[in-house]
Amino acid sequence: MDEKILDCYRRAGKIASEARKHGLSLISENVRLLDVANKIETQILDQGVGLAFPVNIAINEIAAHYSPRHDDALVFKKGDVVKLDVGVHVDGYIADTAASVEVGTNNYSNLIEASQKALQNAIGVVKNHGVLEAIGKVVEETIVSYGYKSIDNLTGHSLDRYVLHSGLSIPNVAHTMDNQKLKVGDVIAIEPFASTGTGHVVSGNGSNIYLCLDSFRMKLVRNQGARLMAQRLSSQFKTLPFAERWCQKVISGSTDVSLKKLAFLGVLKHYPQLVDKGKGIVSQAEHTVLVTEDGCEVMT
Ligand code: MN
Ligand code: MN
Repeated sequence: MDEKILDCYRRAGKIASEARKHGLSLISENVRLLDVANKIETQILDQGVGLAFPVNIAINEIAAHYSPRHDDALVFKKGDVVKLDVGVHVDGYIADTAASVEVGTNNYSNLIEASQKALQNAIGVVKNHGVLEAIGKVVEETIVSYGYKSIDNLTGHSLDRYVLHSGLSIPNVAHTMDNQKLKVGDVIAIEPFASTGTGHVVSGNGSNIYLCLDSFRMKLVRNQGARLMAQRLSSQFKTLPFAERWCQKVISGSTDVSLKKLAFLGVLKHYPQLVDKGKGIVSQAEHTVLVTEDGCEVMT
């Protein structure tokens, strides 16, 4: 990998890692999710780098995909299991990292440890340049050894410049028959999820997280106002996910209504919350890892 690109990944990784740690320290009873998200994002932007996606804060049975609305009144409650997922990019080179914390209690320490340990073991496989199937196997075996389910329809992913989810899926379960090998220079996010429920997620309510789809569809939007708005969002956020919160200055009127309309027209994707099917409690851990000649480098 080009030395300049490597520097970008390392800088993104360091800032994302600090933001994750700082963010976890802010989470406590009666604190607003919105305040935590805003503080983390401000800390990142103040360093002159970009947000690869909105800060995600997923609680209890929500495994992933929730970011507070601009006027979100939700607060953390005692006993909540919180997944904090942070993304930073430096010149498009992305670091994606997550960790879990319990608010004021210790009922789910093992659940939180299970996803952390699964992540560590998966990194061990990458270090030895194992095949993708071997990563899924060790993730599932580790989580099962704690007595939990590894969520089978959430995966890690490879990262590319300005692309959060590029070609590869990094499995969280065994028997995927995926004999693909990682290549030196591949950058991947590994993200095991441990669940007390079914170990399968379904789509829930909206996440307040959006993505601009191809510009071809944009040209088909007849309503001029809507088309203009879509073009503005596209030039602002390009290929990366963005939050409803971030659109206050880009959209006039109700951001919620406008964004939902654009999603309905097919020019935006509105991500649904991903919720454990059995309403089980979910923990997550995630690092971004670079595959190197002699092993791997954890960037976050
Ligand atoms: Mn993530
Ligand atoms: Mn990820």
